[in-house]
Amino acid sequence: MFRGKIVIIGAGAVGSTTAYTIMCGGLFNDIVLIDINHDKADGDALDMAHGVSFVKPVNISSGSYEDCRDADIIIITAGAPQKPGDTRLSLVSRNAGILQNIVSQIMKYAPKDVILLVVSNPVDILTYVTWKLSGLPKRQVIGSGTVLDTSRLKYVLSRRLFVDTRNCHTYIIGEHGDSEVPTWSLTNIAGIPIRSFEGMDEKAFDDMRREVVRAAYDIIDKKGATYYAIALAASRICACIAGEENSILTVSAVLEGEYGISGTALSVPSKLSGSGIEWIPEISFAADELEGLKNSADTMKTIIQELPQS
Ligand code: NAD
Repeated sequence: MFRGKIVIIGAGAVGSTTAYTIMCGGLFNDIVLIDINHDKADGDALDMAHGVSFVKPVNISSGSYEDCRDADIIIITAGAPQKPGDTRLSLVSRNAGILQNIVSQIMKYAPKDVILLVVSNPVDILTYVTWKLSGLPKRQVIGSGTVLDTSRLKYVLSRRLFVDTRNCHTYIIGEHGDSEVPTWSLTNIAGIPIRSFEGMDEKAFDDMRREVVRAAYDIIDKKGATYYAIALAASRICACIAGEENSILTVSAVLEGEYGISGTALSVPSKLSGSGIEWIPEISFAADELEGLKNSADTMKTIIQELPQS
């Protein structure tokens, strides 16, 4: 089993929980936390290091950008988080500015085959900006995208139908945000199309979509941030890459013509191998789902074109 080095930029709620989740997963030898608030990164690293005797051997520390020198994967979680009432898109100018500095620091040191995983919001736009700024091949710049939203939908389906979440098969595609699109045409429970279940009609679909889209807003209203499920999603993406699992996940990928879309990163099912996004299969989505995906792309592209560096 591959055991490499992960650097996490941003030791806030998401970054530190991701580090902890990855540490518990035992997939990596080295985990380094970097934050402009060095004490926060250092304190969190030390707190986690005191639990190392309970997991597979791992070095966990705070560090600087020089630690990117031999990193296999660098996760970007730095930036302003959503406050109650904020949409993810409202964070764009603040976080794109922060990202510019972070990516230039990373690229001073990182090896050419490094994989960058963007988690900061708005994740699709920041993934595209990171790709542009880094000069890396597009397969190496990945956004966490709708991996989390897809998991949320599986959870919602499992609660409605009283089945194991792992038997609920579905994708949410498009923006990680308000314009995201559930693919009901492909959704099935252990191979049984979702529309064959009693009560699974357009109203139920609308309710479930709303529940998933509202999820982050509801959690942020209650406790100020979301971090556990996104940490599991980021950890899962890293495990796919490190373990060369060839899994297909709805990560945010830079699109250049796939589904007729280019000029943005967006979530569509993509195969992840050891070198990043290896294949973007063209799946036959229903016409309204494809239209929703294209609407998401148009929303992202309008914002990208308004950014100073575009
Ligand atoms: P947080 O405020 O708890 O942490 C952000 C951290 O970034 C802070 O520790 C801050 O000091 C650090 N930081 C700011 N500028 C920096 C810089 N230039 N260099 C290094 N570190 C810097 O926020 P959070 O709750 O951890 O959220 C982080 C980001 O993740 C936000 O953009 C949030 O919207 C996003 N997020 C994404 C998802 C997703 O599904 N993609 C889910 C949850 C949160």
